[in-house]
Amino acid sequence: MIVQNLNIVEEKILEKCSKAGRNRSEIRLIAVSKTQPVEVINLAIEAGLKDFGENKAQELKEKADAVSGKIFWHFIGHLQTNKVKYIINTSEYIHSVDSLKLAEEISKRAETINKNQKILLEINTSNEASKFGLKKESEILNIAEFCETRKNLNLIGLMTMAPLTKDVRIIRNCFSRLRELKEKLNARGLKLSELSMGMTNDYEIAVEEGATMLRIGTAIFGKRKTLMG
Ligand SMILES: *Cc1c(COP(=O)(O)O)cnc(C)c1O
Repeated sequence: MIVQNLNIVEEKILEKCSKAGRNRSEIRLIAVSKTQPVEVINLAIEAGLKDFGENKAQELKEKADAVSGKIFWHFIGHLQTNKVKYIINTSEYIHSVDSLKLAEEISKRAETINKNQKILLEINTSNEASKFGLKKESEILNIAEFCETRKNLNLIGLMTMAPLTKDVRIIRNCFSRLRELKEKLNARGLKLSELSMGMTNDYEIAVEEGATMLRIGTAIFGKRKTLMG
């Protein structure tokens, strides 16, 4: 099932890329494997997937310990500072940095293991539905400037979640807002290259709006069985 699902997702990404004049190689497909058991992740690896996203610290740690092979783990959920220690060793990317306190803790932990941690700032582009993410530009700049001073933090981009809605304009607005914010920050001297946006319901729009990282769960693995997540 994963292979067929993946083919469909790939086809749609390619189609949107060609319409938007983009190159498929600019986009990293992250399989969001939250709630999926290790056996399923192994099947996804066999299907050719290399990037996996998890939203709970302990779950990521357990899976990273159990899954072998050269893959990249992405932490994409809300991260409490006291849980950074569980994921710092294994997360190639942390997408959900939403406070200075969290950036400080990641920096501290990364330093103790001599790691340069790639991070993204989570931005609240919808102003309503989603609970997490930075809103104030001054706060975003402040954290970005802090990252510049830390050799163990590598701020590579921005992440957002669009609200769950059928209104395409609202979704597109969130994504274009993230892209514009990235351009604005780069005009102020930052060097952000990544836009982490687009999930099962909206990844095609995200590709059109310049996403470089898609976080897709359901469209690859099927509907999650648990009530949560
Ligand atoms: C679960 C999750 C996704 C993937 O959601 P799907 O709708 O299953 O594709 C993407 N990003 C985050 C932050 C998530 O928690």
